[in-house]
Amino acid sequence: MLFSELGLGPDVLRAIEDKGYTQPTPIQEQAIPWVLQGRDVLGCAQTGTGKTASFTLPMISILASGRARARMPRSLILEPTRELAAQVAESFETYGKHHKLSMALLIGGETFTEQVKRLDRGVDVLIATPGRLIDLFERGNIMLNDIKVFVIDEADRMLDMGFIPDIERIVSKLPKQRQTLFFSATMPPEIRRLADAFLSNPKEVTVAPPASPSETVTQAMVLVHEDDKRKALRHLLRTEDVKNAFIFCNRKRDVAILQKSLESHGFNAGALHGDMVQSKRTETLEAFKKGEITLLVCSDVAARGLDVQGLSHVFNFDVPISAEDYVHRIGRTGRAGRMGRAFTLASPLDGKQVSAIGRLIKREIPLIAIDGLESAEFLSEDEARRGRSRGRAKDKERGDRAPRERAERPEREDRAPREERQAREERQPREERPSRDERPVRDDRQPREERQPRESLAAAESRRQEPRRDRDRDRDRRRRRDEDEDDTPVIGFGDHMPAFMLRSARRPAPIEPAEQSSQEG
Ligand code: AMP
Repeated sequence: MLFSELGLGPDVLRAIEDKGYTQPTPIQEQAIPWVLQGRDVLGCAQTGTGKTASFTLPMISILASGRARARMPRSLILEPTRELAAQVAESFETYGKHHKLSMALLIGGETFTEQVKRLDRGVDVLIATPGRLIDLFERGNIMLNDIKVFVIDEADRMLDMGFIPDIERIVSKLPKQRQTLFFSATMPPEIRRLADAFLSNPKEVTVAPPASPSETVTQAMVLVHEDDKRKALRHLLRTEDVKNAFIFCNRKRDVAILQKSLESHGFNAGALHGDMVQSKRTETLEAFKKGEITLLVCSDVAARGLDVQGLSHVFNFDVPISAEDYVHRIGRTGRAGRMGRAFTLASPLDGKQVSAIGRLIKREIPLIAIDGLESAEFLSEDEARRGRSRGRAKDKERGDRAPRERAERPEREDRAPREERQAREERQPREERPSRDERPVRDDRQPREERQPRESLAAAESRRQEPRRDRDRDRDRRRRRDEDEDDTPVIGFGDHMPAFMLRSARRPAPIEPAEQSSQEG
């Protein structure tokens, strides 16, 4: 099939040609015609399949006519991380270069001033992370009642990161009459329920079986003692033909430690994790994309969905806690038909996680030995549990107040207010605190009047009218933050039960001919 057969406008087709794409990918082929017809779409697709263009291209065609009013964006795209949001913004710039659409990127870690100015000028496309969008909405800087196209990208990741109540809240501010496009790499029941709640009579498009790694990635696992993992990694880095690689750690702390260790052994390594200031994150990623940094030690939150052309290797310095994350991590390589290699360093305590990955990808990852390093064996679950509690006791002995459970939890964007962060920093031992220049930039560095804007009359009025449910949600949000502070493992929704969970998961009803023609018109 050709792009010209999908119904896209001539200027979008020109931009596609400039970019050098010759054929639409399967998700583009399936989704674009439905989006252009105004239908809601439920897309099950991983990053790397051309998913971003499957919604950005038709959105540009749809938004080409019409004008945005101040503070009233015409479309909204929600992304779970800042990097992904920035990547989608780049796609809009590339594919929309022959159009005059205005765009704003609302992400945390950057000052409000520029973002607010942009909104004031009117934007056609608003790309945001949920936390920052809610902050700006609460300040009265933005109105969502003119949104015509709404995109939720990486919905399963949003769920993992605890963003669903925020998203429910955002959706409650959107007009009922809108087009919604919903993408997720996996479709577990809770995601399907969410889709049922947000979408109206959607077209479902699926391009790869959920959570299956690409055949273009060669996988291997090294099972060594925990203390030998760095040596094993260095050996692999020296013997493999590594052009560039992501090296994933489960904890932010280890990202920094491993990066320094690699540097001290002469490797060209950078670090990327959610606690770094945004400017540093952007700068590091740019340097990595340009090839100035060869190895990027990172956490899941920073690397999710990142598209680095021709990445040759992925190393899992830690076995990921969630099996799905394994698929996402190794999916950074072997993209666009190229071959890639993924190595996982496992230790005796990781047996349970490795089995879960095997079940998910329906095969065992081949074990390889490393010359000069003693191979280890997985412990039984009981032994592993005892091993972990010994680790906890050691942590306590060292006065390490951060319990191991927290360390073992995947990293989440830290959106806690400043006071809470400070309190937590006080509780942390000094050496664990981020150095001054590593602390995220918060609003408090901005001029006072920006920190405490006067509430506009409209905002004050809408706050007065805010339904009780919203206030309850606020309280839940605060409580979830508090729970984060306590380092309790996050399982499901805690005692918050979002409304969509109470609805039954239904397959969408068949399309009635009359309804179809009115929606497709
Ligand atoms: P995504 O799944 O959106 O992260 O896209 C993955 C990569 O595929 C990006 O580098 C895109 O530039 C590239 N891509 C998207 N659509 C096409 C296409 N039709 N032909 C070739 N490459 C594409």
